[in-house]
Order: sequence, then C-alpha cells, then structure tokens
Amino acid sequence: MVDSPVSWRQTWLRGTSSLPSSENRLAMLARGQLCGYNSVRVLRIHSVWIGTLKNVFLVGTCIYICFALVSDKLYQRKEPVISSVHTKVKGIAEVKEEVVEDGMKRLVQRVLDTADYTFPLQGNSFFVMTNFLKTEGQEQRLCPEYPTRRTLCSSDRGCKKGWMDPQSKGIQTGRCVVYKGDQKTCEVAAWCPIEAVEEAPRPARLSSAENFTVLIKNNVDFPGHNYTTRNILPGLNITCTFHKTQNPQCPIFRLGDIFQETGDNFSDVAIQGGIMGIEIYWDCNLDSWSHHCRPKYSFRRLDDKTTNESLYPGYNFRYAKYYKENNVEKRTLIKVFGIRFDILVFGTGGKFDIIQLVVYVGSTLSYFGLTLKYVSFVDESHIRMIDKQLLGKSLQHVKGQEVPRPPMDFTDLTKLPLSLRDPPPIPGQPEEMQPLREEVTPKSRDRPSWCQCGSCLPSQLPESRRCLEELCCRRKPGACITTSQLFGKLVLSRHALQCLLLYQEPLLALEAEDTNSRLRHCAYRCYTTWRFGSQDMADFAILPSCCRWQIRREFPKSKGQYSGFRSPY
Ligand code: GDP
Ligand code: ZN
Ligand code: ZN
Repeated sequence: MVDSPVSWRQTWLRGTSSLPSSENRLAMLARGQLCGYNSVRVLRIHSVWIGTLKNVFLVGTCIYICFALVSDKLYQRKEPVISSVHTKVKGIAEVKEEVVEDGMKRLVQRVLDTADYTFPLQGNSFFVMTNFLKTEGQEQRLCPEYPTRRTLCSSDRGCKKGWMDPQSKGIQTGRCVVYKGDQKTCEVAAWCPIEAVEEAPRPARLSSAENFTVLIKNNVDFPGHNYTTRNILPGLNITCTFHKTQNPQCPIFRLGDIFQETGDNFSDVAIQGGIMGIEIYWDCNLDSWSHHCRPKYSFRRLDDKTTNESLYPGYNFRYAKYYKENNVEKRTLIKVFGIRFDILVFGTGGKFDIIQLVVYVGSTLSYFGLTLKYVSFVDESHIRMIDKQLLGKSLQHVKGQEVPRPPMDFTDLTKLPLSLRDPPPIPGQPEEMQPLREEVTPKSRDRPSWCQCGSCLPSQLPESRRCLEELCCRRKPGACITTSQLFGKLVLSRHALQCLLLYQEPLLALEAEDTNSRLRHCAYRCYTTWRFGSQDMADFAILPSCCRWQIRREFPKSKGQYSGFRSPY
C-alpha cells in the first residue's frame, strides 16, 4: 500500500507539531507525567467461524503448554548427582600351569581366587585378570637380550657400551654374546633372564572369569535437594543376578552377561584385555507426589575394539612379585591382560521449584503478546514480576507480583576475581584517553518525578514505549545503586567487559567501530545477571534508568538514539 500524498503530509505535520518545543516540554513536565494514555482501537468481527477458530486455537495452545509443563516436568529444578562407588568381585578360576621341577616339565592345576586376579585401582574402576605371561626367577645380572630384529648382532661392533634403549630392558655392556644356538644378541645388565616377546596365550588362561560376579554398591546424593539414596535397598535379595528385563534392579552382575549386552564375546576380549564401562543412570523425581529414584544400568565397550593388532591392542600391564632365594633378591614378572571396568555414575534429580514454574509460565505468556518483565529494587529483597500491559503507567508504579530472588550460586564467586582485578593504568596513557563523547544523554535538570535515587533521567523512547524505561533503582528515597562499589567493578569495568567479550569471541577486534555498543550491551547483561541471578529472568529484566544512563555515559553511542529494551521473543 502506498500512502497518498495528503496523508503523508498530515503525518508529517503532526510529526513536527509534536516535537516538544521548550514551551511544550514545560507544559508536559508540569503535567508531571510524560507518559500519556494510549488507547488501542478494538475491531469486533461478528463471525462464528473466526470466533470458534480463535477459541480452538487458544484452547489448543493452552493444552499444549500444560502438556509440555507436566510431561517434561518443566516446573522442576534439576540437580546433578554426586556419588560414591564400591565394588566386590567374586568367583574361582582354575588354571593349568607349567612348572619345572628337577629339570622336568610338569602341568599343575592351580585354583585362583579374588586376591589373585583382582587388583586395586584408583577411581571408580576395578580390574579382573583374564590372561597372563610369567617370567620366573629373574635376578640382577648380565645376560643376552631376547632376540628380535632390533637386538640381534654379529660382533661387538653392533653393540654400544652404556647404551640405554627405551624399548629395551637393560643397559648394554658393549659385547655381543650367544643367546641360543647360532643366535647372538647384545649383552645387557638387567633383570635376567629377559622377558620373552610373546603373544598373549590363546585361549585366555582365565577364560572362566566369564562366570565371575561383581557386586556394585553405589551411594548417591543430590546436595541441592538434600536427598541421599543408594542402589541396594534393605529388602533386596542378595543372591540375584542382574538381567536387563527380568531383574533390572539387581546390583550383582555376571561378567559374561555384561559383554553379551554390548554384543562382544567375553573369551575373545579376555585374550588381549579391554575396557568396559558400566553406566549407572539416576533420573530422579524427588517430588513427594510422584517420587521415583531408582538407577538404570547399561554397558558400553570403552576401548577401541577395531584397532589394528599392531597398535597396542587390549589392556595389559606388568607387575612383579619379589622374593629372596639364597640371599639373592629375585622376582617373578607377570604381564597381566585383563578387563578394566569403569563405573560411570550420572543423572539428575528434579524437584518442584517456584522460580522454574514462574519462568516457564512467563516465557510462554510472552507468546500471547504479554511481555513479561522483571524489576528489582535495591531496597527490596524480592524480585517483582510484571505480566500486565503497562497502559501508560510508569514501570516504577506498577505493583506486580513478588517472586523470590534465586539463591546465589557461590561457585560463581570463583569467577569474580577476574572481573574485580582491573589492570594497573599504563603510565602515559591516562584512562581519560577515550574517544570524544558526544553529549547525547538527556540533561540532568530534567529529573523525573518517579525517581527515588536522584540519578535517573527521562526516557528517550517514543511516547508509546516510554513508560517501560520509567523505573528507578529504589522503591523508597535513598542512595543510588550506581554509587555502590560493586556497580563500578561488575558493570562498568571496561577491562572486565572486554574479558567477557573476548571469552565469547576470542579473536574479536576490540578497536572496531561497534565495540562501544558491544561493551554497552554486555554491561546491561552484567547488571541483569548480577541483580536477577537466573539467566531466564535476566532476559526479561528491566534496567533502572540510573543504571541504564550510567552505562550509556560510559559506553556511548556516537550518534542517534538508543533503541532500549526489546523482548527476546
Ligand atoms: P542500541 O545499542 O542503540 O540498540 O540501544 P541500547 O543501548 O538501548 O541497547 C539495546 C539492546 O540492549 C537490546 O538488545 C535490548 O534488548 C538490550 N536492553 C536494553 N535495555 C534493556 C533492559 O532494560 N533489560 C534488558 N534485559 N535488556 C535491555
Ligand atoms: Zn532513580
Ligand atoms: Zn538509582
């Protein structure tokens, strides 16, 4: 649609006449309220169809919002779980071992119990040995290296005295000696005989570890909700075995079953070893009317089973048992292959929270065109929520609904020192050397009537939106929040704001044209986060006029008008 020249002219005429001349402005000031009353013209359409459609749409939206509220429990505050884990492995394994007695090789049966095949590990892990290689009777002396491509030699020239190869087990003496038959290797000072380079035995020597069981005790705590529980409840049958569907709450797991769950074959993994994750997921509803807090167990293979054989597959380590024989210190070296089980506990606990509910209702209300606003006064301990249209009334005078201030999260305080530390001024570069400020702030003579702190200024916004910025930092007369020390450090510190901007965009050019605008918007954000705590509230929080202008004075816009608060939706 194109405006006719007449109507355009009329608008233009009206526009000029409404520019406040000094007389006009005085008259407006005398009236005390710059905010006039704006009426909205309502058009009523008599149509059953449009009426029903509108109502159906409204009811549908309401149902959807309530449904989302209940099904996703958006009224709950969620807390991460903290936990402790304790495990006990049980089972007996039988292995055949070769022993040399009086020069004769003999096979003997050995029974291994928990102390033989589990090792204490740090953190929420336990280890079960499934395979091993033993080198017995090692002592400190000189002997030839185990023959490999790297250690073979033909004369002393192939060896170097004092050479320590990180791959090798000892220090070379510089001699080339016979290992066996016509194989010669470099001689080393080491634990002799040197451990052979061998493949892990197949099948695994403790493949019966498949039938071992592990009992997992897990205590969990939701500190924010003051709630503690554990996975083993008093009445639980302790002779059970975990099964995904038939016995999902049993805390005793057969190792073979765990591997079956992830689609792996225990006896294959047992040869080279591996890492298995046991995940305990707590999704707790701590509301008394629908209390539920039981763990869910799941399993995940954590090592790389596709790794090429040559790239250190599996999981193994060496350990030694030391003893004395005829006053000579000796040891048995064991290369242990096995499965490390890592227990990962995670999840959240949710409980009804009035602030979450208010924030959810508030953000959905704004879809209906009612922009929610929050205001906070320094002389009041609560926050006020305003969900009505202002209709020309200054924000300062709207009562609103009292909402508790979100509890301060003191872990955030650790971030504070960063922003509190201003860099020392660089000599010869005084702070004042900032771009020339054009005076675009309103004159302080025009102190508005609603201001209680003495630092507020009239709004610059067009008349219809002006009331939105008519807000002081105080409800009752007293000192202004901008005079507090923290205001300068948290909101106005150029250094802290620059850090925050760089934190979001590390390569931001701080000398760019629009930097002042960015710093200003960041300062608004710092103020709202400081005074309103919850991020959801900060989006709808309105800055008091004194703070708004203090920030704008510090980081001014070179020309033109400031656009002011816009609802994020
Ligand atoms: P501009 O830089 O010229 O656009 O004007 P302003 O300095 O007023 O900054 C506008 C930006 O700051 C917009 O993104 C606004 O949403 C935001 N802003 C301005 N005032 C407020 C306020 O009172 N509360 C909140 N939460 N944001 C505000
Ligand atoms: Zn004020
Ligand atoms: Zn103030």
